[in-house]
Amino acid sequence: MSIEQKITQLIRSEIRALHAYPVGDASGMIKLDAMENPYQWPADMVQEWQGILANCALNRYPHPTAPEVTAGLREVMKVPAQYDILLGNGSDEIIQLLAMAVSNPGATILAPEPGFVMYKMIATFVGLNYVGVPLNEDFSLDVDGMLAVIAQQQPQLIFLAQPNNPTGNLWAEADLTAIVEASDGLVVLDEAYLPFSSRNHLDWLDRYDNVLVMRTLSKVGLAGLRLGMLFGRPEWLNEINKIRMPYNINVLTQASAAFALKHFDVLDQQCAELKQQREWLFEELLALGFSAYKSEANFILARVKTDNAREIFEALKTHKILIKCMDGAHPLLAQCLRFTVGKAGENQALITALKAIL
Ligand code: PMP
Repeated sequence: MSIEQKITQLIRSEIRALHAYPVGDASGMIKLDAMENPYQWPADMVQEWQGILANCALNRYPHPTAPEVTAGLREVMKVPAQYDILLGNGSDEIIQLLAMAVSNPGATILAPEPGFVMYKMIATFVGLNYVGVPLNEDFSLDVDGMLAVIAQQQPQLIFLAQPNNPTGNLWAEADLTAIVEASDGLVVLDEAYLPFSSRNHLDWLDRYDNVLVMRTLSKVGLAGLRLGMLFGRPEWLNEINKIRMPYNINVLTQASAAFALKHFDVLDQQCAELKQQREWLFEELLALGFSAYKSEANFILARVKTDNAREIFEALKTHKILIKCMDGAHPLLAQCLRFTVGKAGENQALITALKAIL
């Protein structure tokens, strides 16, 4: 049997039909594609951190529950004592753990679309059904559409990203409430972009016993560390924790995250600057003729009124600027581009390049 035949026989057809998560080549580019924080740490902070890393015991397994990190998170994010914290190698891993935990044959994950692509991809990885309910044209939730799926299919897991990626908006609280109250399944409020948002859903853990709150350190400035976190009632987290790999948060990540959490004011300040830059970039995109959508995140989705989003994306690459072209990703994103907010100079370079291109 040829290797191709063996692959056909052994690898599930849904997996064979997938493409690995696409990551653009950003070498030498201004990187405005992946919602990272563009700022470095001050030199004295870097020096202190390097001293800590030098003392890490790489010959030992990491602490299985990373207590220094969870204590730092509890303090910085004001997580009440009655809720537990579960850590993942990025929130991607937490999505996977949640999906694995509910993956009975026929179980369903529900999420609004366009949304974060990993919800659907992970559903496929673990053999779950996935239902994506399109948002309304203005990117608000189609509550009736969501409620209909909840009534018909009783999804085990619902993901609601607040703010949503790639649209950048928050949904009406009444709409979220309607969904949570109608669902017997777990509802995960994904607050990946919380550092840039005007709304925090931690108190929903008090209100509802089927809500979990998921966050990450990726957008606040630590994308390279890979640290995501889930907050919730111990009853739920005890179950999810059973399928977490024992050493999923490595020694270097634990030491670096614990250190960064002690200096969270530095990261907070950087996020405040990014929020200001976001408002500047928004106005500039409007002035250039884009239909830009108001954002509560560290990126802006904007629609090109002409028919050339992909050409603009390619032309920006020749100007050494990498953004994300969303055209073709979903019918509601036709002619849309997503710009991660960068440093002032990077955003200026982007606007200068767009002026030259348009
Ligand atoms: N949730 C949302 C809504 C996201 O946009 C992202 C990253 N793009 C993530 C989760 C994953 O973040 P990470 O795995 O870096 O923690």
